[in-house]
Amino acid sequence: MHALNAFLFSIYRRQFFNFSFKITRVKTVLATMSKHKLNPNASSDQPAAKKGYWALGLIDSMKDPELRVEEDDKVVVIKDKFPKAEFHFLILPKLEISGILSLRKEHEDLLKHMDDVAKNMTEKYSHKEFKIGYHAVPNMQRLHLHVISTDFNSPCLKTKVHWNSFTSPFFKSSQSIRKELRENGKIKKMSCEECDGYLKRPLQCHKCKTFPKNMPELKRHISTHT
Ligand code: AMP
Ligand code: ZN
Repeated sequence: MHALNAFLFSIYRRQFFNFSFKITRVKTVLATMSKHKLNPNASSDQPAAKKGYWALGLIDSMKDPELRVEEDDKVVVIKDKFPKAEFHFLILPKLEISGILSLRKEHEDLLKHMDDVAKNMTEKYSHKEFKIGYHAVPNMQRLHLHVISTDFNSPCLKTKVHWNSFTSPFFKSSQSIRKELRENGKIKKMSCEECDGYLKRPLQCHKCKTFPKNMPELKRHISTHT
C-alpha cells in the first residue's frame, strides 16, 4: 500500500512539475513577444527568439568588409545592415562601451570625435539632410551613433516603431547626449512609459506634420518631400 502511494505521488509530482514548466515557458515566450513588439528594429530584421545572439551582431559587423566604410584609431564606421533610409551609417567606438547608459565623463572626448566623424560623413553627401543621434533604448549591444538621411526612403523601414524611433524624442540627438553627459556625468535612462509613448504615438510626417493613416500612406507622403 505504501509503495502504491509513493508511486501515485511520484506521478502526481511529475505532472505538477511538467505543468509548472509549461507555464514558465509560456510566460517567457509572452515576455519575449512583448519585448519584440517594442523593439525598434523588430520586423523581419531579426528573429525574437535569437535576441540574445543577434544583439551582439554589430560587433561582428565592425569586422565585416561588406559593411565597413572607414575606420581610424578610435572608431569604425559601418553601413546599417537594415538601413532605414538611403544613407544610414553607424559609428562605433573601438573601446568597449555597451551603450549610452555606460557613458561617463571620461568619454566626452570620444563622443566629440564620433560627432566629428559623423559630420565628415554627412559632408560627403551634402545634397542630403541627416539626423545624428542615439536611440534612447537601443536594441543592439555596443554604443553606436546613427547617421541617417532624412529621406527615410528604404524598404527596411516597415513599422510605426521604426518610424517613431527616428522621428520622435526617442531619437536623442548627439548634441543632447553630449550636453547631458557634460552637465550630469551620465545619461538618465528613459522610462518604459516614456519610450512606449513615443514609439506607439500616431504616425506624423517629420517635415510638414501631417498625420498619415498608415505606413503605405506615410511612405507615399514622404516621397513627395524629396
Ligand atoms: P538600435 O540598437 O535600436 O539603436 O539600432 C540598431 C541598428 O543596427 C538598427 O538600425 C539595425 O538596422 C542595425 N543592425 C541590426 N543588426 C545589424 C548588424 N548585424 N549589422 C549592422 N547593423 C545592424
Ligand atoms: Zn509632410
